[in-house]
Amino acid sequence: MLGVAFGEPGFAVDTHVTRLTGLLRLTYATDPVKIEEDVCSIVPPSEWTGLSLRLILHGRRICVANRPRCHECVLADICPSAYLGLAKPRTGPPHRVPKAR
Ligand code: SF4
Repeated sequence: MLGVAFGEPGFAVDTHVTRLTGLLRLTYATDPVKIEEDVCSIVPPSEWTGLSLRLILHGRRICVANRPRCHECVLADICPSAYLGLAKPRTGPPHRVPKAR
């Protein structure tokens, strides 16, 4: 609210932001405070409020929990979770290569 009403930079973390920051591999954290720290460390303050709002809308309209619409998503080309049908972010590093046998 401070960001929208008064222009104070802030990164709100709700369930959509938690899910999307994980799917997009912006963080591996699940704790909202840690998610905020991780994202705010890689995004300039001027973008915090807008990014949070965009993630919330994206989570409501496109990257819907349990049925992400990757075929309609503008992030599909860069999203590590695209077309994997994930309802929640995977734990662990992305694109882990299996050991050769
Ligand atoms: S590509 Fe799919 S999983 Fe990734 S953000 Fe878009 S809808 Fe979500």
